[in-house]
Amino acid sequence: MPGPADLRALPSVDQLLKAHAVQPVLDQHGRAIVTQELRLVLGEIRDAVRAGGALPDTAGIVASLLSRLSYQDRSKLRPLFNLTGTVLHTNLGRALLAEEAIAAAVDAMREAAALEFDLDTGKRGERDSHLREILCELTGAEDATIVNNNAAAVLIALNAIGAGRQAIVSRGELIEIGGAFRMPDIMERAGVGLVEVGTTNRTHARDYIKAITPETALILKVHTSNYRIEGFTAEVAGADLAAIASQAGVVLLNDLGSGTLVDLSRYGLTKEPTVREAVAEGADLVTFSGDKLLGGPQAGFIVGRKDLIAEINRNPMKRALRVDKIRIAAMLATLKLYRDPDRLGARLPTLRLLSRPQADIRAQAERLAPEISALLAPNGYTVETTACSSQIGSGALPVDTIPSAGLRITAPNGTALEALASLFRALPRPILGRLQDGALVLDLRCLTDEAAFMQSLKQGATHAPA
Ligand SMILES: *Cc1c(COP(=O)(O)O)cnc(C)c1O
Repeated sequence: MPGPADLRALPSVDQLLKAHAVQPVLDQHGRAIVTQELRLVLGEIRDAVRAGGALPDTAGIVASLLSRLSYQDRSKLRPLFNLTGTVLHTNLGRALLAEEAIAAAVDAMREAAALEFDLDTGKRGERDSHLREILCELTGAEDATIVNNNAAAVLIALNAIGAGRQAIVSRGELIEIGGAFRMPDIMERAGVGLVEVGTTNRTHARDYIKAITPETALILKVHTSNYRIEGFTAEVAGADLAAIASQAGVVLLNDLGSGTLVDLSRYGLTKEPTVREAVAEGADLVTFSGDKLLGGPQAGFIVGRKDLIAEINRNPMKRALRVDKIRIAAMLATLKLYRDPDRLGARLPTLRLLSRPQADIRAQAERLAPEISALLAPNGYTVETTACSSQIGSGALPVDTIPSAGLRITAPNGTALEALASLFRALPRPILGRLQDGALVLDLRCLTDEAAFMQSLKQGATHAPA
């Protein structure tokens, strides 16, 4: 019987760092990290050899080193296939940017730009100036400002206009939008007293009118983004609220949430209130997100009356919530696409994906199903095409779904199905579907790079749990 391998034959870290096979690894990763990882690899080998394992040769050691380094190199933020059926998935980063926006962001990253510098006068300029004009043009508002996201927009608007005073909100609109964004908490942090009016399902004009006192700074209208109250309901129309607010000399702030700049029915979707409509109805301020239906990078907009926007811009929070040049560049490029509504549906990924016809997606599913079935069938999985329903996501049209199509994968048992879902998540380019009714459903609405998807699946299938 052979004795345990001789550990003295194991090369040292210094010897390995000089080895020919390690030079390309050093070039790619640098000396510090390679030295550190080699120590760990050698430690593992020593343990394995003491436990009776064989001594690997240099090629084997380099292979272990490379596998550690490639695992570490892998970012959790790497691109993935969003086949969940939720197009604007908050946990997956919401809107995908248009090529024009990506190019503008890349330029802004690489070079200096006149972010707060006026090229005409040679004097200090304003960060918001780049977006103000086009925002006013697209919304009909007098003035506009931009902050980190819509939660920030609501927070700073409330604080700037209402700190130390009160805001009136309908009980039907005291929303929570995932995580920590609850309207009552935001108001508290903004230093604004909350005055609730009406009931959960019905709020009338007289409820607002009765609640107005000298302490009232504003009326807040909130788009009920992620739920809908149905049945015996009443809410006060924006135009009526605007009349009430203006009569009382208080500000009407309309938090639209997703907010869209176009009539979505033009793209085959259900109409959502547009920012232009909210402004035209008479809201003094309107807040909305940049990365929901608008389809740009994360941002929050406040548009409306010039004097109020000036007040918001003077608020010290503005500096804390400001947006960097990369996002401003990407946002400007995104907004410019709205100047050409005829081509918007093709150029803006959010609209392109949301308006993709079901027949098109079904054809894709039928085209891919046989090959995917051949890959997964040996391990006992069944793949069939299926109709399914996509959602817009991010609190736009919460109850509406869009007819879609995809693949329905079933397994001999629940453990095997979970195992497949987890294998898909661990791929170099993860595939995320939706576990539903004992199947893993891949909604193909957002699948654009078919070749990369098939390549990912093949990688997965070779490791598929039996
Ligand atoms: C989404 C949403 C917000 C928060 O916007 P973020 O851009 O996620 O910060 C606030 N209000 C409403 C009504 C929303 O739908």
